Amino acid sequence: MSSIPTGPVGPVDATQVPRFAGPSTFARLPALDQVRHADVAVVGVPFDSGVSYRPGARFGPSHVRASSKLLRNYNPVQEIAPFAIQQVADAGDIVCNPFDIDSALLDIDRGARSVLDRADRLVTIGGDHTIALPLLRVLHEAHGEIAVVHFDAHLDMWDTYFGADVTHGTPFRRASEEGLIDQTGSMHVGIRGPLYSKRDLTDDQALGFQVVGSHEMDDIGWRGTLERVAARVGDRPMYVSIDVDVLDPAHAPGTGTPEAGGLTSRELLSILRGFAGWNLVGADIVEVAPAYDHAEMTGIAAAHVAYELISAMAPRPQEDH
Ligand code: MN
Ligand code: MN
Repeated sequence: MSSIPTGPVGPVDATQVPRFAGPSTFARLPALDQVRHADVAVVGVPFDSGVSYRPGARFGPSHVRASSKLLRNYNPVQEIAPFAIQQVADAGDIVCNPFDIDSALLDIDRGARSVLDRADRLVTIGGDHTIALPLLRVLHEAHGEIAVVHFDAHLDMWDTYFGADVTHGTPFRRASEEGLIDQTGSMHVGIRGPLYSKRDLTDDQALGFQVVGSHEMDDIGWRGTLERVAARVGDRPMYVSIDVDVLDPAHAPGTGTPEAGGLTSRELLSILRGFAGWNLVGADIVEVAPAYDHAEMTGIAAAHVAYELISAMAPRPQEDH
């Protein structure tokens, strides 16, 4: 840089460099090593060795970045310019072992800590849902027990699969057992599809989660869902974990474990906008598998999810929710 910037460094100016050119960072933002410090860092975790069905989410970070080129500076619904009132930067990818899940967890732990040395908060792009466990371990050290608001078709609260206890179907059970999550403040949103048995739901409740099922949204809508989340979370430190399969396959076909009857991207974005000004300590968007995507539908949905989360993290006058 030729001069020391006086405020946040924003995306490359699209009136000077067309959106199909320029850097391949998220939203064409500066890289983390181009800024002194970031309020929010977008970081990729290209890991999918924890999947149980279709693989391919290791290509999620680069796909979501490519699908983020049309994100513009002003968010008219949240009424803020998220890249102008806080420094947002792209920290690149955390390199992790694709052959050994335990090693990968340590890699993600180390990688997240090193980005957090230079950024206040992370918005992580997966990768499969396994990555939420090491991220929650890191955040627990700073914030204590965290209210997890988990958007997913699936509970991800199973115990083991083929003897493996850390997979993309188990992160929130492990997190609950390890005392990382606030069992009085956590919630799943968008759950649907057949389960192994009714016990899946009773176990889930015993481990500290409440559920807003996808089918309930017909009755209560996104607004009623947001009210249920608000009543549950209060002012606790909150981590938002979004499996893109919470969206209906019509909105997000590019994912590993699709289930019919999901949210629209409009419903999901509306709920996320409602988190503006909450105590949001981190977030992820996971399970984007570009090999099954069409016309960047899933990538674009994930990019907008990240944009709304970054906007919701932006500082604004303290307000009740
Ligand atoms: Mn899922
Ligand atoms: Mn999941």
